[in-house]
Amino acid sequence: MEAVINDEEAQIQGFLAAGHVCTIMGISKYEPIVQNYKIPMVVTGFEPVDLLQGILMVVRQLEKGEYKLENQYSRVVKSEGNPEAQKVIRQVFETEDREWRGIGTIPMSGWGVKGELAEYNANKKFSVNIPKALECADCIAGQVLKGIKKPFECSQFGKACTPLNPLEAPMVSSEGACAAYYHFAETVEEVEI
Ligand code: SF4
Repeated sequence: MEAVINDEEAQIQGFLAAGHVCTIMGISKYEPIVQNYKIPMVVTGFEPVDLLQGILMVVRQLEKGEYKLENQYSRVVKSEGNPEAQKVIRQVFETEDREWRGIGTIPMSGWGVKGELAEYNANKKFSVNIPKALECADCIAGQVLKGIKKPFECSQFGKACTPLNPLEAPMVSSEGACAAYYHFAETVEEVEI
């Protein structure tokens, strides 16, 4: 989130924080981001009504000129998350640098198997050479992620890149921004007008 928001061109006015992550990790780690960047954030679930309510809660904060951390998904997400799951994660994994599509490498932003558990690390145990995934040169996923451009501004949108033939991650899953725009294109055109 900080990598996205620190981009000078980013057009981010608020965040919907992913409810599944917060189910495990809790919500307190988001508070400094909300306060430091003075940006509304709502932990949100995944049903359509969850998303609509999450968006409404962000918009209401923006209209009132407020910035705070709210939890729309309170039926699942507890403030402290799941301490037992956090404990197990820390027993097995440690933070490491991770590359993010459209953004680049962010130091200590991913989880990797701990060194002392290397014998269980498939990347080390098996000599399988996984080539680095090539990014499509025309893909503007990073700009979509930062709110700088809309998916339909990508030259490949709906042409070489479709849900049946996705070039990059945002077109793959149903909640990906490009896939969502693809499936609801008529609605989007009405909104854009
Ligand atoms: S339409 Fe495809 S190529 Fe274009 S930004 Fe989206 S995922 Fe990338």
